[in-house]
Amino acid sequence: MDLATLARPQLNRRDFVKIASLTVAAMGLSQALNPRIVEALEQVAPAKPPVIWLEGQGCTGCTESFLNNLEPSAVSILLDTISLRYHETAMAASGHQADKALTDTIKAGGYVLVIEGAIPLAQNGKFCTIAGKTFVDIVRESAKNAAVIINVGACSSFGGIPRSGPTDAVGYLFRGKELHHVFDDVGNKPVINLPTCPVHNERLVATIVYYLTFGKAPEMDNYHRPLAFYGKLQHDNCARRGQFEARRFVTDFKDPAQQGRCLILKGCKGPIAFQDCWERQWNQRSNYCIQAGVPCVACSQPEFYQETSPLYAHDYDFGVK
Ligand code: SF4
Ligand code: SF4
Repeated sequence: MDLATLARPQLNRRDFVKIASLTVAAMGLSQALNPRIVEALEQVAPAKPPVIWLEGQGCTGCTESFLNNLEPSAVSILLDTISLRYHETAMAASGHQADKALTDTIKAGGYVLVIEGAIPLAQNGKFCTIAGKTFVDIVRESAKNAAVIINVGACSSFGGIPRSGPTDAVGYLFRGKELHHVFDDVGNKPVINLPTCPVHNERLVATIVYYLTFGKAPEMDNYHRPLAFYGKLQHDNCARRGQFEARRFVTDFKDPAQQGRCLILKGCKGPIAFQDCWERQWNQRSNYCIQAGVPCVACSQPEFYQETSPLYAHDYDFGVK
């Protein structure tokens, strides 16, 4: 998709109010901060803070998720509030022109760096190269002058699905639950992880807006995840928790009498999944995995997918047989 050619209205004050409301609601902030966020957006919009969006070993699902409709749309937010200088899927430029956009933005510094996809380290990074450079070198070079780094999705946060393959794929800071220190030489800056597979567009928009307003990362847990999104456990907030306590479990998806029962025997990893999918939901807040009858695979967790697979098998010992 060439974002620059899309016909779209420019963001106005009403749109900024909507983005501010979304951010306040998404992050559990006080409503009193609404005007401050609107003011910050009005101030930063003309300057358009630069953003570099890199993609390594991934499936582009996080890009797709981000571009899914929001009100105002992610496209408007991208083009009117920030300046997306480099994005392999969404930018109009290609070849040397694209490479130059990346180099020039890095040189100027002070940008938001978004990383999608895992970073393969095996064989000196040769499993993923772009324009003759390894992805690990591109990330290091881009991280040095970044003001803040936002890792979107499970892959760039912890390694995700690629971590279970042969490429020694890691997240920016973490290999699963362990810090790997590969990018310790790029200098201190906030690093925010927004896992799930893919990233949730509301969590990303709210995080960017929070950073643009307050100039810092939101409060985070030990895995660099904003507590506002990842501070509560799926299992403690699940609508099927009563079924779990009553030991009423789905054992046969084809049995209509079992609809709405707890999914733990079908592999639900809700007891280890810290997220707010049960409240935020997906697809314009229409539904989410468990509500649709699908076990949670804990894609918000550093253990996903290597330690949580097979996804739909009851391998974890939650004390339920
Ligand atoms: S195991 Fe899964 S379906 Fe069952 S109550 Fe916990 S989160 Fe909900
Ligand atoms: S409910 Fe579980 S599997 Fe579904 S998106 Fe959230 S963390 Fe991932």
